[in-house]
Amino acid sequence: MVITGSAWDTALKQLDDAARIMNLDPGVHEVLRHPRRALEVSVPTRMDDGSIRVFQGYRVHHNTSRGPSKGGIRYHPGVDLDEVKALAMWMTWKCAVVNIPYGGAKGGVVVDPAELSLGELQRMTRRYASELVPLIGPEKDIPAPDLGTNEQIMAWIMDTYSTREGFSVPGVVTGKPMAIGGSAGRPMATARGVMYITLATLKHLGMSVEESRVVVQGFGNVGGGTVQLLHDMGCRIVAVSDVAGGVYNPEGLSPQGLFAHKEKGGRLVEYEGGQAVTNPELLELDCDVLVPAALEGQLTGANADRIKASVIVEGANGPTTPEADEIFHERGILLVPDILANAGGVTVSYFEWVQDLQAFYWSEDEVNDRLRKIMEQSYVDVLAVAEDRKITMRNAATILGVQRVADAHQTRGLYP
Ligand code: NAD
Repeated sequence: MVITGSAWDTALKQLDDAARIMNLDPGVHEVLRHPRRALEVSVPTRMDDGSIRVFQGYRVHHNTSRGPSKGGIRYHPGVDLDEVKALAMWMTWKCAVVNIPYGGAKGGVVVDPAELSLGELQRMTRRYASELVPLIGPEKDIPAPDLGTNEQIMAWIMDTYSTREGFSVPGVVTGKPMAIGGSAGRPMATARGVMYITLATLKHLGMSVEESRVVVQGFGNVGGGTVQLLHDMGCRIVAVSDVAGGVYNPEGLSPQGLFAHKEKGGRLVEYEGGQAVTNPELLELDCDVLVPAALEGQLTGANADRIKASVIVEGANGPTTPEADEIFHERGILLVPDILANAGGVTVSYFEWVQDLQAFYWSEDEVNDRLRKIMEQSYVDVLAVAEDRKITMRNAATILGVQRVADAHQTRGLYP
């Protein structure tokens, strides 16, 4: 297969590699190479000046053999159907790797949310949600936040769906505010999962937490939380970036200072506690742990030779291309793949959904403790496959996920 570098090509290549290594039944392999269903919607939206703009939106269900589908909604100008298909496929493996009873889905709208007023964002979100009604629901498909979306957007989706039903349906989305059935611990869950996985990796490699220098690309929900939590654990955060670029200080950056600077509307490149770096430079900085937590396709055949980290923990989905994977493997860099490393978000989304269905809510300590157990167990499970078969953590995690999905599919049988 020719690798063109799109997220969908990457996702297919990862599945094909896993299928080859595990000798997957060719029929099941073929089923899993295709999303179960994909919906493309137009989202006509009244703008503040009275004009109408039509946004393009998508929702893809990749697989539902293990349960209802689950996956975030992305608002970004670069969203397209192939990207949403790739993200949906990764969700299928991710839910299976952490062994929660979901299939994979993803949604997206081609939009830069920063360009819309709050009113425009709300109207666009509500219309998009109403277009998704045939696909979503607590028993069918449960959206959550992703790049460019947040708990307020989840609240509007929940309200739109509930208004149509005529009663409150908190279980239709996760990542909601606590006031309407959100879970304690959800906002930091993805970052907390990245932190547990980073600590497990350092322990496995015999590396010291306190002496670890960490670089994080992205300072949103995942990147910002990871900076905070790894700093709290004793790691030294030496660089961090947002879309405009980053800041580097080999002596360490203070998360408190970074958050205060961001809250005042500052860009990280202008932060006075270090020197400015571009995003490409940031990835190549001298460090022990690199956490890409922004977008796909950041670590490629073009820069993988120059990456200095000994450990890469994928906070983002799909930040590494297959060419870069091979180079890291040859260079002895341990890469912990997205479908394991950032699975903390969907795990606590699962807890949120369980709490909503039971209308019985847990304390934050309970949530964090259950999350830690699942992340640590999943790390051990993936590492065992990697060591047993002498393969990369990426291949091992994909094989574990694909095997669990294939077992469910084959047990249920092909309809009709
Ligand atoms: P977010 O919108 O909260 O933050 C994104 C961050 O990335 C921002 O700091 C932004 O400035 C930065 N960024 C955007 N474009 C960039 C670029 N070209 N170069 C460098 N930085 C850039 O998004 P998020 O929810 O933190 O998601 C980040 C990644 O993590 C995505 O790949 C997403 O799919 C993945 N993820 C998110 C969750 C979740 O629970 N939010 C769960 C699992 C995986």
